[in-house]
Amino acid sequence: MTKVLVLGAGQLARMMDLAGSPLNLDITAFDPRTNNVVHPIANEYTLGSLEQGINNADVITAEFEHLAHDVLEQCQASGKLLPSSKAIKIGGDRRLEKDLLESCHVANAKHKIIANYDDFTAALGELSLPIIFKSALEGYDGKGQWRLKSMAQAETIWSEMEEFIKQAKTSVPQAIVAEQMVPFDREVSIVGARNSKGEVAVYPITENHHTDGVLSVSLALPVEDALQQQAFEVFSKLTQALDYVGILAIEFFQVGDSLLVNEIAPRVHNSGHWTQQGADTCQFENHLRAICNMPLGNTELIRPTAMVNILGEDSVPEAILAIAGVSIHWYGKEKRAGRKMGHINVSGNNGIELATKLGQLGEILDTGAYPDLAEFAAKLTRKVSA
Ligand code: AMP
Repeated sequence: MTKVLVLGAGQLARMMDLAGSPLNLDITAFDPRTNNVVHPIANEYTLGSLEQGINNADVITAEFEHLAHDVLEQCQASGKLLPSSKAIKIGGDRRLEKDLLESCHVANAKHKIIANYDDFTAALGELSLPIIFKSALEGYDGKGQWRLKSMAQAETIWSEMEEFIKQAKTSVPQAIVAEQMVPFDREVSIVGARNSKGEVAVYPITENHHTDGVLSVSLALPVEDALQQQAFEVFSKLTQALDYVGILAIEFFQVGDSLLVNEIAPRVHNSGHWTQQGADTCQFENHLRAICNMPLGNTELIRPTAMVNILGEDSVPEAILAIAGVSIHWYGKEKRAGRKMGHINVSGNNGIELATKLGQLGEILDTGAYPDLAEFAAKLTRKVSA
């Protein structure tokens, strides 16, 4: 039985465990909040220290990129960490991420790194409004971001960012990445796996919708070949450059027919949760297959599927389960406003059927908690019927 230690003990580790059991994999998770190794599902009991967890594991991986560097180094030194600590650190630091994109000649938003006031004024000179400022470290789900729409806001935003940089308790210095706002048509992402032989299997790109900077709906429909090929080329370049092993997710802005990378995530990703019902092999299983040196599973779209995030709610009407093709995945977390508590996957045999089911879901779910769902379903119906 191959033993896998996951760094991070949240829902992604939990779903890796659920996908790993049929493969006879033994999954444990390191919780960085308590510094204990725990079971990814029954996580209230400790199974030991990080050191014990590392010694006990055959393979170590991560569900989270914002890990302390000493933890990553300790795992890297064991020779068991996949993807590498370098890849995980790049995913957790927007400065390194931008360097990687530039060195691979991958299109991304025009940007400037800001560590002090001189850099800030230089960024205002080089980029045109609107500008988005993002914290280099510990930035995810829209956290640590400022948007500058008019020069009148510049000094206020700078004083907030200066304070933010000063207050940082990060192991490497905090900074800000200033980015030109991209007038995108839509946001999409690609999720794919690469194993140590360099074999690659990518899922079709998905369209992503956010509410207050947090993913609310991902949609996997058959995609245009040219767009899929563009995303695949970026995936190949980045994974080759990093000699990457595991699942990597890449988020893009689509402008016309072109894709610009927004950010990468060196792990299984929220926009890949649809694969649990829309593909033969889900992203969690393919991540485990990749890191455990097994053949990769089929990543084709077998039926159009949408994923709806459950944010800040710990129950949904059971009536949604009566809709054929609807599945719920709860994460077993305590309720907190805005927190990712679970997700709902909805599948249909074709786009129209999927849109109809999403409409039915929208009618049952609380419109306060899922404000855009009915409108989203109506738009999708128009799109797939066109
Ligand atoms: P991020 O944390 O980088 O994914 O940013 C959160 C959200 O802010 C993204 O999903 C976009 O909707 C928006 N956003 C981030 N960067 C840009 C940009 N350069 N141009 C336009 N919108 C952006």
